[in-house]
Amino acid sequence: MKMHIDIISVLPRLLDSPFSHSILKRAIDKELVEVNVIDLRDYAENKNRQVDDYAFGGGAGMVMTIEPIAKCIEALKEKRTYDEIIYMSPDGEVINQGMANFYSTQKNLLILCGHYKGVDERVREHFITKEISIGDYVLSGGELAAAVFCDSIIRLIPGVLSDETSALTDSFQDDLLSPPVYSRPADYKGMKVPDVLLSGHTKEIEKWRLNKSLERTKERRPDLYKKGDS
Ligand code: SAH
Repeated sequence: MKMHIDIISVLPRLLDSPFSHSILKRAIDKELVEVNVIDLRDYAENKNRQVDDYAFGGGAGMVMTIEPIAKCIEALKEKRTYDEIIYMSPDGEVINQGMANFYSTQKNLLILCGHYKGVDERVREHFITKEISIGDYVLSGGELAAAVFCDSIIRLIPGVLSDETSALTDSFQDDLLSPPVYSRPADYKGMKVPDVLLSGHTKEIEKWRLNKSLERTKERRPDLYKKGDS
C-alpha cells in the first residue's frame, strides 16, 4: 500500500530539499510513498496571485484568505479521499512518536502549511480535520513543520528503513530513550567502549542496553519514565 501525501504551500521550493535526500528520497524512489507539493498561488484568481489580506479588526500581520485554500482543497478532494486534512499549527496537538506510528499507517494525507498570522479561522472550522504542532515555539511557516512531521511518519513505513528493526529501537518507542551507542575504534586515545558491548554475549548486551535506557529515561525524562512504569 503506497502512502500519498499532498502538501499545500505558498513556498513549494522550501520543501524541495527535505524530500530529495536520504531516507525520504529512498522511500519515494522505492514507491512506498508519493509526496506532491501544490502551489497555493495556482488557486488565487487575482492577477498578483495574492493569497493573503489584512485581518478584519485590524492589528499587525496578514492572514491567509479562505478563497484560494477552499478552491485548492475542494479540487484535491475530487481526486482523492483523505484520511485526514491537517493544518500545521503551533496550537495543534504536539506530535509524538505514538502519533507518528499512527499516521504512518494512513493512506492519504493532505497537509496545509500556513504563513504570516496563519489562515482564516473558517478554513480551520470547515476544511481541516486535524491540527498538528511540532512543538511549543513559533516558526515563520508550516513547511518546515510539515517536513518534520512527514519525516517522522515516512521512516516508519515498512520497507523504508533498510534494517526494519532499527525504528523499533529508537527513542520513545516503549516510552524509553535509546541507550548510548558506540562504534570503532574500541579504544580512542584511552576513551574506551564499555566491555560488555565487545563481549559478544547477546543476553548481557540486551540487559545492559535496557538498563542504560531506563537510567537515561529516569534522569532526562522523568515524565516518560513514570508513564512507562504505570
Ligand atoms: N499567529 C500564529 C502563528 C503563525 S506562524 C499563532 O500565534 O498561533 C505561521 C505558520 O507557521 C502557521 O500558520 C503554521 O502553519 C506554521 N507554524 C508555526 N509554528 C508551528 C509549529 N510549532 N508547529 C507547526 N506549524 C507551525
